[in-house]
Amino acid sequence: MTTIADRLKLAQCRIAQAEQEHHRPAQSVNLLAVSKTKPLSDIIQAYQAGQRRFGENYVQEGQQKIIDLAQDYPDIEWHFIGPLQSNKTRIIAEHFHWLHTLGREKIAQRLHQQRPQDKPPLNVCIQVNISGEDSKAGVTLAEVPALANIIHSLPKLKLRGIMAIPSQQANFDNAGQAQAQLSKEFSQLKACFDTLKQTYPQLDTLSMGMSDDLSLAIAHGSTLVRIGSAIFGAR
Ligand SMILES: *Cc1c(COP(=O)(O)O)cnc(C)c1O
Repeated sequence: MTTIADRLKLAQCRIAQAEQEHHRPAQSVNLLAVSKTKPLSDIIQAYQAGQRRFGENYVQEGQQKIIDLAQDYPDIEWHFIGPLQSNKTRIIAEHFHWLHTLGREKIAQRLHQQRPQDKPPLNVCIQVNISGEDSKAGVTLAEVPALANIIHSLPKLKLRGIMAIPSQQANFDNAGQAQAQLSKEFSQLKACFDTLKQTYPQLDTLSMGMSDDLSLAIAHGSTLVRIGSAIFGAR
């Protein structure tokens, strides 16, 4: 039977392999362990195996986990990667270290107002709707610079980069087509990130790539891959 520690190690190996294969510096890609719906005991197992970055999708569930683990595991870095409605921004501002899914000015303003004075700025990524599907959150590529400009003007937010969830591979007729579409989307995201970096040189995070497309995302410059079920098992 494989354990969470085994699967975590395997995920790290896959990242290291992809870095090598695609001529990326070693350890230039971070692993975000997506622990949504999983119990505290799973997070603790991953922690004990060395993992420190965890991603959550649901506001209340994430808040509760952060509160429960704060005392004994104060060095966990909590990333919110789910959809965020404006009436839930306070919880994110007060508890999380990172938000990957910032897609609206109004949300940015609220997070800035609600971020406690005694905490460092909230790290944020702009979510880009790269697939153009109506069901997906995020701004278009063309809208990124304007939102970046707003975020940059809010001192309690720290713009770190961009994030995207690409087209689902299952939506394509064959693997070749899916691969071509994914490559195109990842390239567009990388180009957007590089352009944005010319204005904001401190940007360091291109959050793209999940279990199935990790290697392709790393080939295209991802700096952070988000992996859940491959570490914690099916949900
Ligand atoms: C759930 C989720 C993941 C991880 O997905 P798995 O299939 O469990 O690896 C990554 N990114 C986002 C935004 C998610 O919601």
